[in-house]
Amino acid sequence: KKVLIAGGSGFIGSVLTKQLQKDGFETCLISRMPRPNSITWDDLNQNGIPERTDAVINVAGQNVLDPTRRWTPGFKQNVIASRVHTNQMLVNVINQCDSHQKPKVFVSISGVGYYRPDPNQIYDEYSTGGDHDFLSKLCTDWEKASKVEGDQTRNVIVRSGIVLGKNGGIIQQMYPLFFLGLGSKIGSGTQHMPWIHIEDICNIFIQALINDKFAGVINGVAPEIVTNDQFTKTFARLLWRPSFLFIPEQIIEFVFSSERAVMMTRGQKVISKRMEELGVHIKHPTVEEALKDILK
Ligand code: NDP
Repeated sequence: KKVLIAGGSGFIGSVLTKQLQKDGFETCLISRMPRPNSITWDDLNQNGIPERTDAVINVAGQNVLDPTRRWTPGFKQNVIASRVHTNQMLVNVINQCDSHQKPKVFVSISGVGYYRPDPNQIYDEYSTGGDHDFLSKLCTDWEKASKVEGDQTRNVIVRSGIVLGKNGGIIQQMYPLFFLGLGSKIGSGTQHMPWIHIEDICNIFIQALINDKFAGVINGVAPEIVTNDQFTKTFARLLWRPSFLFIPEQIIEFVFSSERAVMMTRGQKVISKRMEELGVHIKHPTVEEALKDILK
């Protein structure tokens, strides 16, 4: 089986690609840069989906929380285009495929920022959202842009929590601070932090390729709900470091601007009913165990 993976060079994409190869899938990446075993977005536009492609995945996206990039209109446009336009391009070429060449499934990522931050409300895939701020509207547009015409290609959207893993994402960004004993909660630390181990999010993607029952939205979150404070304390303790500091929300808002700072200063309790219904096994259900696995 051949899988086309947009954003396959990234933090999630590279682990997913390796796992797919281990499981016997043939892989081809879509990247902005020419690289081995890949095509560029231009190639895709000109030549369409490579022959014999059974499945398409989109895990591309400009890093929203890049602290070196100011939150300018231009950068926001990059954030949108790298998600919405890439999905649109993929959907266009899938729609244009002859019916005997159509991929069987298109799986794309989105985020739990879709749900409105709230200290009490518990959200699952049947909850509403996607219309309260810039990031939630981005999720709505991103997800809308992933809808393929007709019923030959199954559509799956994985609404992911913060992905915990080595060599990327939040752990890579925070490790140096925690290592120096400067690990800090953000603001009061009471905001919830939906999360998932990288191995589990990759498994959801792979299950979505092979199990026809996967369709529509699936929240990619671990069952244990934690707050930013609980996460910070656990991470610091496992590194034998203190964690009594906190970063005032105003500093985070100053550095990142409030529109994207909400990703850190606010949170939502998210669970996955669909994973329960589908019987998906989560290998790393608690943050303590997941972090131990990552730090070992
Ligand atoms: P990375 O930044 O590690 O990688 C994403 C990939 O997207 C890059 O390798 C790059 O591929 C491609 N990309 C980056 N910028 C652009 C751009 N401007 N236009 C087109 N392609 C671009 O991200 P992650 O792997 O961490 O995340 C992947 C996706 O998952 C993102 O959309 C992110 O929002 C989403 N997500 C991530 C979470 C996390 O905790 N990491 C949580 C929830 C959702 P190349 O250079 O080869 O073109």
